[in-house]
Amino acid sequence: MANVKFYAGEQIPLEMHKVRIIQRLNLPDVEQRHAAITEAGNNTFLLGTEHVFLDMLTDSGVNAMSDRQQAAMMLADDAYAGSQTFKRLSARVEDIFGTPYFLPAHQGRACENIIARTYVKPGHVVPMNYHFTTTKAHITEMGGEVLELIREEGLEVESDLLFKGNMDIDALRSFIAEDPERVPFVRMEAGTNLIGGQPFSLENLEQVRDVCREYGRILVLDASLLSDNLYFIKTREESCKYLSIREITRRIAACCDIIYFSARKLGSARGGGICTTNETYFRQMRPLVPFFEGFLTYGGMSVREMEALTVGLEETMDEEMINQGPIYIGYMVDELKKAGVPVITPGGGLGCHVDAMRFCDHIPQEEYPAGALAVAFYLASGCRGMERGTMSEQRNPDGSEEFSNMELLRLALPRRVFTLSQVKYAVDRLVWLYENRHLIGGLRFTEEPEVLRFFYGRLEPTSDWQEALVAKYRADFGDSL
Ligand SMILES: *Cc1c(COP(=O)(O)O)cnc(C)c1O
Repeated sequence: MANVKFYAGEQIPLEMHKVRIIQRLNLPDVEQRHAAITEAGNNTFLLGTEHVFLDMLTDSGVNAMSDRQQAAMMLADDAYAGSQTFKRLSARVEDIFGTPYFLPAHQGRACENIIARTYVKPGHVVPMNYHFTTTKAHITEMGGEVLELIREEGLEVESDLLFKGNMDIDALRSFIAEDPERVPFVRMEAGTNLIGGQPFSLENLEQVRDVCREYGRILVLDASLLSDNLYFIKTREESCKYLSIREITRRIAACCDIIYFSARKLGSARGGGICTTNETYFRQMRPLVPFFEGFLTYGGMSVREMEALTVGLEETMDEEMINQGPIYIGYMVDELKKAGVPVITPGGGLGCHVDAMRFCDHIPQEEYPAGALAVAFYLASGCRGMERGTMSEQRNPDGSEEFSNMELLRLALPRRVFTLSQVKYAVDRLVWLYENRHLIGGLRFTEEPEVLRFFYGRLEPTSDWQEALVAKYRADFGDSL
């Protein structure tokens, strides 16, 4: 985004790329949206994209590729073993992170499977700034436990703290000191996903490294959301102002023993991988790649994905190629804040997070305010977001609800996909919805899977609130879509 001053004074981001391939979109009218979400059991995961205008469900595997990435895919070398494509990818990873050893995997959670199986034993505890769903699943699957040591301020909805993803260093040191052997590794997550894509600072990571060195513990970095975190370090951390993105990446990598990533996010491609400078760690993890992923020179990725990733990683080093996401999100957060809509601040990477606890403070948590808001926002806009609240939790063994700390509607902005007018449309409809929030009602399950119920559970409204919302929409917007 160029730092351009508009003569008229308006402060808006300006893209340093142009769109050369487009996909036709469809915007169903409000009655069609009502029919579609009812058909989908009031669960946005069950909507078909033919009924979705702007798909803000996730940033995973849906970021826009560059022309160079697409071109590279045509030159891939298809071979089971010894592919030139793999050599190019492995060399690029080494160039960027300074890590000579690379293990390919089919996506981020596959890396987590390999790392957890290699290092986590029953009774182990893995301290981390914050958990991610798939990370926690793999660690607990191996009999380990996750310990979140995010600093208290990280969980505040509204804040002006620039690095809400930082680890509490004192808590980390005192926990490890109690029994270092219980800690197989410490994990830091870049662009902390579940608390709103919030970054850690380089300074904080260096302190975590010092504690790990002091007690001889392995430091693992989840770099899936690294590109946003790099941008925030560059623009928010005073001491890094004059470093290039490439230099910041090297400094981050130099702190860590093992780095892994989902290439569905990092590098705007698909796939994933684990890299390290340590030959012992490489040898410990390597046998699991042919076992779960595929041979060592593809690891479940297609050669075309690997070529796209090689170019995508290089492009991540270019600030202009990675700043559109966080700048658009910052714009969206600011506009919503100005209109009084409660959102997580400051804006992070990945998406804009609306605070459903306050937006729908008349809906009790057992009626899923964030799920209800996701449905209401789809009705009001045709845009699809994701519930991140109580619906995403699992019931307690006695059948009672496990209420989530936060009730969020996540509106992901896949990188480089939407235009500013589309973002403005989403903001406009959200502001309308906020003014009519008293019309939003709750949801209850009609079909509730025991695990991961948010993916494919079905719900119904607790009253006829959706009809009332649709009628108000018609009254306010006339025959507009
Ligand atoms: C998406 C994500 C993962 C998992 O990656 P997949 O490619 O979806 O398996 C792991 N960690 C973080 C921080 C993520 O955002």
